[in-house]
Amino acid sequence: MANSVNVLDLVPADAERILGEYFASRGQPAYRARQVVHRLWKNPVRTFDEMTELPAGARSELAGHFSLPRLEIVERQRSVDGTQKFLFRLDDGQGIETVAIPEDDRVTLCISSQAGCALKCAFCATGQMGFQRNLHPWEIAAQVREMRLIEDPLLVTNVVFMGMGEPMMNWQAVDPALTILNSPDGLGIGARHITVSTVGVLPGIVALGKRPEQFRLAVSIHAPTDALRRQLMPINTKYPLADVLAAARAFDRRVTFEYVMLGGVNDQRTHALELAQLAKRCRAFVNLIPLHAGGGTEFQPTSPRDIARFARLVRGAGGGIEVAIRKSRGTDISAACGQLRVERLGRRPPQRADEHGHVHVV
Ligand code: SF4
Repeated sequence: MANSVNVLDLVPADAERILGEYFASRGQPAYRARQVVHRLWKNPVRTFDEMTELPAGARSELAGHFSLPRLEIVERQRSVDGTQKFLFRLDDGQGIETVAIPEDDRVTLCISSQAGCALKCAFCATGQMGFQRNLHPWEIAAQVREMRLIEDPLLVTNVVFMGMGEPMMNWQAVDPALTILNSPDGLGIGARHITVSTVGVLPGIVALGKRPEQFRLAVSIHAPTDALRRQLMPINTKYPLADVLAAARAFDRRVTFEYVMLGGVNDQRTHALELAQLAKRCRAFVNLIPLHAGGGTEFQPTSPRDIARFARLVRGAGGGIEVAIRKSRGTDISAACGQLRVERLGRRPPQRADEHGHVHVV
């Protein structure tokens, strides 16, 4: 039904209130609303008709007033190392990518917050594609929901906003999506297991810091000086390194610095020492990320040996900086983020994005 209310686009408390009013107006018991909410995220169903705890009549009436949309899986790739990559098609034909990374008893889901991205980081396939549109809250959270509905379901324990898009440029949707992900009546993922990664969109960092939950923040540094960072990340002109670092310092939880290793570009000894100084000032955890070979850009990955050397240099700079090297996962399936979408769904002309993002800081 065209004007039906999408129950997945509401945070669980709002969904329960609206469903409660709906059932009350039909003289049906109030507990029905909780029953439905329970089946949206926690123990999800594909259709209202699968909510067999409700009478058949109530189910078909629900379907007449509310919608329960799905993300359509266009492609599911499985790596020999267990990593899985999903390409979802949205109802307007846009495509987004989601990656599931199992490790020990955890499954980390790397989710997208926008179709495409306006920020044009030089090393990023999604950035080359340009901006298409912001995702709605439900499209962000449903990437996790769908993992519970697929064949061989995956129970996601951790979420990172490191897929397509810059989450802080879509804060108006990421904000409620975080509530759905974290709420015990939503997907119930602990806030400390949810990381929002940003290139340093300052109002978004402030907004995340104002949330009472302990969501984690990762900041993509990628270059330790403004001159180099500007070349790699045009956003640095608007949000220069000094401002980003000040925001990271002001964030009241420990911050992770993401640093993608680009052969011959940002992986020299001086870069390591400069990065170490920045990390010390912010008491940040440093995560070095190997570049995916063949990621659709002209950059070359730094060799594993040189990444290890770089890590030693950062660690050796004193101040007790913790450094990790992200394991390359899914290299047999995974083109860089954004590539699968281009291969399967083709290119689309980029759309104009509001360069400030829609960030409302209260
Ligand atoms: S790295 Fe992130 S912010 Fe930069 S272009 Fe790619 S998706 Fe956008």
